[in-house]
Order: sequence, then structure tokens, then C-alpha cells
Amino acid sequence: MVKDSCIFCSIINEEVPANFVYKDNNIVVFHDVNPKAKTHLLVVPRVHIKSFLDLGDSHISVLTNIIKVVQRLVKDKKLEKGYRVLINGGSHQIVDHLHFHLLSDQELVD
Ligand code: 5GP
Ligand code: ZN
Repeated sequence: MVKDSCIFCSIINEEVPANFVYKDNNIVVFHDVNPKAKTHLLVVPRVHIKSFLDLGDSHISVLTNIIKVVQRLVKDKKLEKGYRVLINGGSHQIVDHLHFHLLSDQELVD
């Protein structure tokens, strides 16, 4: 489902540019435009789920995929020494399209 005026849906549909590091049929990963750490990636399901609290049984497979993608990124990009995976909610959530932040003080390798 594409939500009008959702910035992440626009990025997913490539109407708005982003610096992508990973894409598959279910998930995209791109650099945060305003990074809060040396590496700050946003891991975003293509499906428009509003927030963490909207996750339900029908999202188990997309959640499993997100975890696998994050694990692979941490390993492939050599972030194992120190990283954080974060979901904001409520007043801490600015973009109302579920996303996981992957933050690290390690520099991203290609
Ligand atoms: P939230 O507080 O919703 O978890 O965080 C949203 C994040 O999305 C913020 O860290 C913000 O910098 C990032 N962001 C917002 N708009 C854009 C955008 O248009 N492009 C990219 N790449 N990141 C964005
Ligand atoms: Zn969206």
C-alpha cells in the first residue's frame, strides 16, 4: 500500500532520491539524511506500516526479513564491534512509516 504524502513511500517508489545501500522485494535500506552517528542507516519495509504498535501477526515474515537484513548488514559492513538497532515511537517518531535505525560508530565499508 502506498500512502500519499509519506516521505518513505516516496523514497521507496524512487520519487524522492535517497542513498540506498540495500534493496529487495520487501525491504529497502538507505542512509539517514541527518545522521546521528558515523553510520546511520534506515531499514524500511516497503509496505506502509505506521508504527511499531501497528505490527501484528500478518507482519511476522516482513519482521523476520528485516532482522535477517540487519544481521547481514552488520556482518557485511563490519559493524559488529558496536552497533545499535532502534525503533522510535510516539513523540520520538517523526516519520510515520515503520523503520529501524541501524547506528554505529564504525565507518561503513562497501
Ligand atoms: P524517527 O524519529 O521517525 O524514527 O526518524 C526518522 C528519521 O528519518 C530521522 O533520523 C530523519 O533524519 C530521517 N529522514 C527524514 N526525512 C528523510 C528523508 O527525506 N530522507 C532520508 N534519507 N532520511 C530522512
Ligand atoms: Zn509510507
